[in-house]
Amino acid sequence: MQNRNIDVHCHFFNISFAFAEVLEIGWRWIHGDYPYTSEERRGLKAIGIIPPELKQLASYVASYFAVATGSPDEHYGYEQRCCRNSQWHPLQPLITVPLMMDIFFLFDHGESEALRALKPALPGMLQRAALDVTTVTEENANFFEEFAQILKAEFIPVYEKKASDRDMALTLSAKNVTDISRDLDQVIADFKDGHAEKGVRPTPASSTKTSVQMTRGYRKHLQELQVLQIMNPDTVLPFLAVDPRRIGIDELVREQVVDGAFKGVKLYTPLGYLPSHPNLYPVYRLCMQHHIPVTVHTSTGGLLSLCDRIQTRSQNRTGKVVPVTFDKKTDKSASLFFSEPVKWLEILENSEFSGLHLNFAHFGGQEHIIKLADQKPDEPVNPDNWTAQIIGLMGRFDNVYADISYCPKDGMLDYIRAIIKRYPIVQKRLMFGTDYIMVMQEYNLGGRLENYFNYYTGIYPEMLTANPAAFLG
Ligand SMILES: [Zn+2]
Repeated sequence: MQNRNIDVHCHFFNISFAFAEVLEIGWRWIHGDYPYTSEERRGLKAIGIIPPELKQLASYVASYFAVATGSPDEHYGYEQRCCRNSQWHPLQPLITVPLMMDIFFLFDHGESEALRALKPALPGMLQRAALDVTTVTEENANFFEEFAQILKAEFIPVYEKKASDRDMALTLSAKNVTDISRDLDQVIADFKDGHAEKGVRPTPASSTKTSVQMTRGYRKHLQELQVLQIMNPDTVLPFLAVDPRRIGIDELVREQVVDGAFKGVKLYTPLGYLPSHPNLYPVYRLCMQHHIPVTVHTSTGGLLSLCDRIQTRSQNRTGKVVPVTFDKKTDKSASLFFSEPVKWLEILENSEFSGLHLNFAHFGGQEHIIKLADQKPDEPVNPDNWTAQIIGLMGRFDNVYADISYCPKDGMLDYIRAIIKRYPIVQKRLMFGTDYIMVMQEYNLGGRLENYFNYYTGIYPEMLTANPAAFLG
């Protein structure tokens, strides 16, 4: 891997994945089964209308995923083509690190915590909850169809609006609305049939453990990445999406990363949990034992939890677990609250985990990078600058890295040079990443991923090869 170019941050998920998860959230939610099913709360409620919150959720998620219409292998092929056609003139195919995403808990305000607290009193209940992926029955099939079409009607106009924007020049074949509509109908049909895996070639089972909670979109995307990795063993190193609220997540890490096709773990904390969530400790332990790298979303942008108030928990280094409440009124944004790099001190200062291979994706985000780069040498560094916080962690911990993904701007290399001049450690820890396919919605790219590679022509070779190779181990 030493001399190969690596994109350490990309995504090959798509709008069908997102729609499947939105259906799952919504269908469970209206049954009082979100995020978990339970015998106690089972039973179809009489519903006349779809709650407005669900419609908002659908259009919010659609706006985020509208740019991603292809299948994972189409996305993979497109990225390889763009790299080949760029000014890089690479001699070998790009090694890509597609990061999964888990959006299922986007809407969870802490119900998951309340249910988990019941665990000792109700043995077996969570087990059953994990097993039961709310099915569509004969009795409620018509209602499900109606429900699904209402949520689909939130997705389509969002896509239509993006597709009609010429500057956005959607990637790949730029599917038309009829194609997308058909894709979403397929998701609805699969959801009803319980055959979410239809269309996926034979593959190792996504999870053989019945104690692991699998939702349809999550499972399907996991399988697609398994297949992609098997077909391209030298150039696809996928990361498993980990959310501490997903039941059995550490078992899934053991199965898919320690023993499976996945190379690392992806965390996305702005969806409503801290790095110090108690359920992440077993995951970090596996990562330490098996040299598994972790990438965490670290910019103020991106998909955020939709809850105004979130009840969660945090475990400190002595093992004490305390309740934590996020409140939008006082804590500003979920991003600031959950994703600030210094929130990782609780983990990194714990001697058990100080050697964790950790990538702060986006290096704090383009705005923070540019602000730091533009600072005069005699100016004091703003302690709230995320890029500066990450550099501080790089100085203290040997395996802290960052990637430059989702910075689609000509001139970024000059900013990086300015930062390296002042903080030489960055040259050894910063990695190249595109954040394809999410980055395609940026006007600066003009709908062409080649431009992203071109912006980084002449990049420090370490950022492309040695640094990500060291991070990935
Ligand atoms: Zn990303």
